[in-house]
Amino acid sequence: MATDSNKFQAIIAHCKEYGFIFPSSEIYDGLGAVYDYGQWGAELKKNIKDHWWHSMTRMYENIVGIDAAIFMHPTTWKASGHVDNFSDPMIDNKDSKKRYRVDHLIEAKIEALSNEGKQLEADLLQGKMDHLIAEGDFAGLKELIEDEKIVCSVSGTANWTDVRQFNLMFSTEFGATSDEGDNTIYLRPETAQGIFVNFLNVQKTGRMKIPFGIAQIGKAFRNEIVARQFIFRMREFEQMEMQFFIRPGTQKEWYEYWKGERMKWHLDLGISPDKYRFHDHVKLAHYADAACDIEYNFPIGFKEVEGIHSRTDFDLRNHQEYSKKKMQYFDNDVDPATGKPYGNYIPYVIETSIGVDRTVMLVLSEAYEEQDLSTPERKDDRVVLKFPPKLAPIKLAVLPLVKKDGLPEVAQQLMSDCKGAFKCFYEEKDTIGKRYRRMDAIGTPFCVTIDHQSKEDGTVTIRFRDTMQQERVPMSEVKHLVLRSMI
Ligand code: ATP
Repeated sequence: MATDSNKFQAIIAHCKEYGFIFPSSEIYDGLGAVYDYGQWGAELKKNIKDHWWHSMTRMYENIVGIDAAIFMHPTTWKASGHVDNFSDPMIDNKDSKKRYRVDHLIEAKIEALSNEGKQLEADLLQGKMDHLIAEGDFAGLKELIEDEKIVCSVSGTANWTDVRQFNLMFSTEFGATSDEGDNTIYLRPETAQGIFVNFLNVQKTGRMKIPFGIAQIGKAFRNEIVARQFIFRMREFEQMEMQFFIRPGTQKEWYEYWKGERMKWHLDLGISPDKYRFHDHVKLAHYADAACDIEYNFPIGFKEVEGIHSRTDFDLRNHQEYSKKKMQYFDNDVDPATGKPYGNYIPYVIETSIGVDRTVMLVLSEAYEEQDLSTPERKDDRVVLKFPPKLAPIKLAVLPLVKKDGLPEVAQQLMSDCKGAFKCFYEEKDTIGKRYRRMDAIGTPFCVTIDHQSKEDGTVTIRFRDTMQQERVPMSEVKHLVLRSMI
């Protein structure tokens, strides 16, 4: 698989240099796999979240959004299966003491084989690994690692421990004293459970009728062992999840429906279909009867950005059992087979779960372009982020040509007219050319220059980021032009 690690590294450097993403607590040399969003990264991330939220809660009339707490009653995680099952098979190298996720270690070998043109061997290894993981055969996985002569990238040796499970949940203490029994509480590893435990609250107070969905955006925490690849695999991250409650027996058609809807959402960002593919899960999570990933072709290869899971009634049924509270819905629609209402049942669930940070990474990968603009007379280049206008951190830069002659005042008029409607940026320092390049580097789709003619006839020059073309337009039209581009 062709990867472009130079581009990936260039994006990471660009994000830091231009105020998108910084390592967390950088003055203390950072914290593994934790990142902070800077001024433009925070805007980009918020725009992505708003876009998803609006798509879910406005465009589907039967989906509502909630905002549940991160802390939940500890029994939640017993019922959900996370205490017992939320773990990955890991292996340690005895020489370097470095710990690896077994699937990642073998996948690296598969990728290397395929890069060497040994596709048949790569496919064979993939098949063997999938089978052993699906069987939960840890001894077999260790044997496979040894047979394939996979070595640790640090020590270079194949001196491996046995394969073991490692739980990914973070725990902490709840309350002031430790003598009140077991105070252990978990930081949620997914937002979904906040939706399940509120299923009846929302259904009843919202008078929701099946099929309906509950959406949520929020932080999740996983003690990822191999935390690398920038914001692709973080220990603190955000998810945008939607649980869609359906009648049992209809899960296959709704699963297909949501696969289609979610892919449409991705393509509506203007991204080419050949950048995406579905990947069906071989090993199903403890709660699923069907599951797939939407994978995007990142500069580091095709990787999961979103999961679509048919979760059956696993979660609601377990919450009913552990809480002793009924999780049933009364369906008074008539079943054509019996001529009677469907009656009481625990709904089935289709889940769509997309990572905010992976979507930020996707949008950045798609937008980032290094362009050589040299002419025979002059060397020139630029880095431009071609964000869709609705996701761009800044929509409009307002730039007076000079700092005098009343031009800043005219520019400020345009700022006042637009800044309530979308994010604008005012700048009067440096040449216009330098200011354009800075705006290109953070992905601002429109720059407007105010010059002496603007004072006379009320027109301004608007410059388009992607084509770099400039056009003279009435200042009064700028706001609508930008707003139209954001639809
Ligand atoms: P992976 O196999 O890559 O670990 P997953 O299958 O465990 O991911 P899900 O539990 O399906 O992921 O979570 C849904 C989404 O949440 C993922 O598609 C991804 O976008 C995001 N996500 C999961 N783990 C992380 C993480 N550690 N950092 C950033 N985003 C994450």
